[in-house]
Amino acid sequence: MRVLGIETSCDETGVALYDTQRGLLADALHSQIAMHAEYGGVVPELASRDHTRRLLPLIDNVLEQASMGRQQLDAIAYTAGPGLVGALMVGASTAHGMARALGIPVLGVHHMEGHLLAPMLENEPPDFPFVALLVSGGHTQLVRVDGIGRYQLLGESVDDAAGEAFDKAAKMLGLDYPGGPRVAALAEHGDPGRMRFPRPMTDRPGLDFSFSGLKTHTLTTIRELDGRGQLDDQARADVARAFEEAVADTLAIKCRRALEQTGLARLVVAGGVSANVRLRARLEEAASKRGARVYYPRGRFCTDNGAMIAYAGAQRLLAGEQDEVGQMKAVPRWPMDQLHAPDKP
Ligand code: ATP
Ligand code: MG
Ligand code: FE
Repeated sequence: MRVLGIETSCDETGVALYDTQRGLLADALHSQIAMHAEYGGVVPELASRDHTRRLLPLIDNVLEQASMGRQQLDAIAYTAGPGLVGALMVGASTAHGMARALGIPVLGVHHMEGHLLAPMLENEPPDFPFVALLVSGGHTQLVRVDGIGRYQLLGESVDDAAGEAFDKAAKMLGLDYPGGPRVAALAEHGDPGRMRFPRPMTDRPGLDFSFSGLKTHTLTTIRELDGRGQLDDQARADVARAFEEAVADTLAIKCRRALEQTGLARLVVAGGVSANVRLRARLEEAASKRGARVYYPRGRFCTDNGAMIAYAGAQRLLAGEQDEVGQMKAVPRWPMDQLHAPDKP
């Protein structure tokens, strides 16, 4: 089955073609980062309009890469949520319109299920069951995964997501949006021994996270340094390093706990923050202490992309799931524990 995947939930227009027999055939992405950077964050109305401009050319591009015509598509999968409703509607209506014209099935996919399954596109994909750490701009969750659609939430952030914390720390340090990669780059020059930031909620049992206190701590530290006239480039790098170490360490401690609690030996890490090199190193250390292995998506499939949507959609379309004719879905809020396993295996 050849599935076209469409992702438009936020600020990336992603399109890909996944063949359930041959694997990933093509993928293409347009990031709106430069457009939103001017405003310091995603402007929803601009995002929707840009998806409208980019989506059809990206679909043509992907078909061309695979030397295929639209008529050779067997199904279409699109991100139905969670995300910005206007942005989601661009992908949903395009998918439904195309599917109707081609007479093929179409299915709305959960964006976080896409992130969660992205490591399945790699050469040695993990077997079920595994523990998944989803760390992105809007989510920080630990999930026990027993199969497609069989997800049990083990813990999540009670306030900010890890990616959001990175983005906010970046702003405080005068770095552009999106801050994650920029904080990471600045942290490279930082001295890890100069300051130590708190590891929130690691001193008590449980698998929930909280990053808003760390954000406040970062702001207070920056203000104090500034007040003493010490906020030079080195100090900013040291703050970035202390912040990054604290986030990576906190996530690794909770992952280790989740592996202990479930007795599982596979850890999947996905979502934009999973691109962070220091986080990966901490997770490898934590997992190896338990003899567990860590699985990631390739770099460009950590953040939003069409490939993960094509893949996740294909698994469900194969089992016969599809949207009803004319029932396009665009759901801004959609808890992942509302998902079910596909009807047929
Ligand atoms: P969600 O998937 O929860 O709806 P999203 O789609 O906006 O949110 P992603 O595209 O998966 O999130 O990831 C973007 C986030 O990842 C941003 O917050 C960004 O700062 C962060 N990020 C990307 N690269 C890195 C990195 N190297 N280090 C830390 N954070 C990073
Ligand atoms: Mg994004
Ligand atoms: Fe995402």
